[in-house]
Amino acid sequence: MDDSSSLFYRVFKAKFFPHCSILETDTKTRGSYAWQSIIKAREVLLKGGVWRVGDGRKIKIWKTRWLLEDHHRSIVTHGPQLLQDCTVDQLILKPRMEWDSALIDKLLYDAEAIKNIPLSDRAPPDKFCWPGTANGLYTVKSGYHSLLHYEKQHLPGSSTKDTLQPIWNSVWSLQIPKKCQHFAWRASREALPTRVNLCRRRLPIDPTCENCRNSPEDVLHAVWTCPSIHLVWAQEDWTQGIRASPVMDFADLFSKVLATAYQQNSEVFIVISWLLWQRRNKKRLGQDVLDIDQVGNKARAYLTEFVSSFETPPPTELIPAVNIKWQPSRDFVFKVNYDGAVFQETNEAGIGVIVRNQAGKVMATLVQKVRYPQSVECIEAWAAKRAVQFISEIGLSEAEFEGDSKTVVAALNVSHPSAAPYGHLIADAQSLARALTSFCFSHVKRQGNALAHALARMAKTIDDIEVWMEDVPPPTKRLYLSEISS
Ligand SMILES: [Zn+2]
Repeated sequence: MDDSSSLFYRVFKAKFFPHCSILETDTKTRGSYAWQSIIKAREVLLKGGVWRVGDGRKIKIWKTRWLLEDHHRSIVTHGPQLLQDCTVDQLILKPRMEWDSALIDKLLYDAEAIKNIPLSDRAPPDKFCWPGTANGLYTVKSGYHSLLHYEKQHLPGSSTKDTLQPIWNSVWSLQIPKKCQHFAWRASREALPTRVNLCRRRLPIDPTCENCRNSPEDVLHAVWTCPSIHLVWAQEDWTQGIRASPVMDFADLFSKVLATAYQQNSEVFIVISWLLWQRRNKKRLGQDVLDIDQVGNKARAYLTEFVSSFETPPPTELIPAVNIKWQPSRDFVFKVNYDGAVFQETNEAGIGVIVRNQAGKVMATLVQKVRYPQSVECIEAWAAKRAVQFISEIGLSEAEFEGDSKTVVAALNVSHPSAAPYGHLIADAQSLARALTSFCFSHVKRQGNALAHALARMAKTIDDIEVWMEDVPPPTKRLYLSEISS
């Protein structure tokens, strides 16, 4: 209550922004054909485009697309009417430019998704960009894909918002792989491409289930009521009570599972449903599928493996088959290699940086664990920024920065601002680099970046950040020595 009232207070303090772009103009005012076409393109952009958070002042918290996850672009938590005009900057602590975690955790179920968004300490203006392409620029093809995707997600389902809210809260607390969480959420919103859903999109398709040829195939049918999968659920004794009672749709079923089963069984329920959906898709493509009586076992094995992946340390070291090797810089005394790694299961990511001189001797290494910013390019851009920061931190003023993402290196080497979702991190890296005496950004194939890669992977095993001066962490020592001797 305290927090929302202070937010409420801040709403009234917040200024109105005179800023007005095509994205905000009233659609009803003009009628010319040209204007209508612009409005149409604008609709595609509004449905598919995403705000990149800079200072957060232009972005409304609610009813605006500004989150990084494909299936979760806007805030799902219901916002009180009074706060509808609040902007994202009210969730940011200034001047540090950090998310106000205490406030966000209290106010929004979407807290994790928000805190995954990397912020720039320069507090640049917010930017509306296009997530469908790697460089953030709109193309007709990507626009078309985005429209298809949008329609898939927004098909009318029979569930009301009220039944979805508790599901939303529970899905993200289940200890299951992220892809299964996404599946559960999409299934609950009836947003999977079932035959019934394809039919609703007016595709010339018979809605009848291919497996039993007997009822229309919606999500509930595909993973629960279809006679062809009856055995799977019959083997799960704990579903007996639920199977005896009628259910309306998948969201209704899932709510009943959540309400009556132990958390572990709720997890099994989702993984089995996910496996059944995968199985159904493979079958349609004529691929080999799991025997129906094996699905339950497979789900349990998959869950056990997922849980134990948190416990076992990763293999200490891998020496890749090398044909392209790391080389010292030709024009600079120091070469800095950086790389990012993604740990999808824990929604985290790693950054690895190594600074070497012309003799190949290590000056410093950095391993850092961060929140996963939901795209590989974004973590690569972040690693580049971190590499430039690191150089200043250890007192060097010139270097060649080498990374293995073509997209990110290309963005670092152009002066006009990048429209990509990670564009503010590129601008950060460029602006930090301009403070050095001299620098360049170059690209190397993955094998040439093996140490930075190993360091980034190592982040999985550490708490926050580790810096090694004139040394590398023990697990990467052999790889380091092999690169020097060769
Ligand atoms: Zn069927």
